[in-house]
Amino acid sequence: LTEAEMTDSYAVGVDLGGTTVRVALVDRAGQIRHEAAYSSNVERGPEPVIEDMARWVGEVTAAANVTREQLIGIGIGSPGPLSPSRGVVHKAANLPDWIDIPLSRSMQERTGLPTIMDNDANLAAYGEFWAGAGKDVDNMVMLTLGTGIGAGVVIKGELLHGHFENAGELGHWIVVPNGRRCSCGQRGCLEAYASAGNVARRVVEAIRDGETSILSGLVQKGTPFGSRLVVQAVHDGDPLAARIWDEACYYLAIACVNIQHAYNPTRIVMAGGMSKAGDLLTQLVQKHFELLAWNLYDDFPEIRIAVLGDDAGVIGAAGWAWKAEEEGRWNAEPTC
Ligand SMILES: [Zn+2]
Repeated sequence: LTEAEMTDSYAVGVDLGGTTVRVALVDRAGQIRHEAAYSSNVERGPEPVIEDMARWVGEVTAAANVTREQLIGIGIGSPGPLSPSRGVVHKAANLPDWIDIPLSRSMQERTGLPTIMDNDANLAAYGEFWAGAGKDVDNMVMLTLGTGIGAGVVIKGELLHGHFENAGELGHWIVVPNGRRCSCGQRGCLEAYASAGNVARRVVEAIRDGETSILSGLVQKGTPFGSRLVVQAVHDGDPLAARIWDEACYYLAIACVNIQHAYNPTRIVMAGGMSKAGDLLTQLVQKHFELLAWNLYDDFPEIRIAVLGDDAGVIGAAGWAWKAEEEGRWNAEPTC
């Protein structure tokens, strides 16, 4: 790449979500030139959403004062399960009627730009790896602690996909045999104990079971709340919130030990709503990790908070497109 191409070319990163579609132009260094967020309105079904996404790519490009010739291609992060190699969304819990939708081909036909796609959690992890909390390491795993738990595994710069292209669903690691029912149908998944949504749900359930908490009033009034208020209650010295937060950190530490042995990464990055707790999250996970970890070898990953916030998805999608461009593999099978 010439100097001009380094600074004047952009990949389009698209983060397709059930509520919001984010579109950004990102340069080779991982810097966002321009970004916009749109309401997905997914109840319309797939076709109008894809039509809009193609139009939004044009809008963002025009708003950034960038020409079509300066775009190298599009990367899309989508909910799954999906096939990155074929560019097909098999199904998505929060995208109604998306069944075996050829998303990459549809976007490519509408925009004339080469398009690559992957799981949204994978690409958020890739974004942090490429331009955020993992940019100085080669092996990184990210857990995104939101409504559920998304994860991505980066090994030597490659996203791990596996034969069924669905590897790295670490939120559905079973951490409690015969435990809480998960939205996926399994019991005892990490997500059922340690996602932001389930931490708040467990506090509500404990209060309904008769435990007292400074959040009891909200539960009695039926006011919904998320992990942010649970974290606030922990800081305010609420014993129930502290216990459930500590249990979530304990299960995350179990996941971190398993991640250590499965992938041996340099770093484990925590992202999503719960990661806003910062030290209250990492220090407790670290404490439990040290109690749980083996003593045969000090191959311990560093546990850190993500730095890109809501931009990780679009930056990672664009970074994945840049990688496809540089390696000439827009239509190639995944290598990992
Ligand atoms: Zn599950």
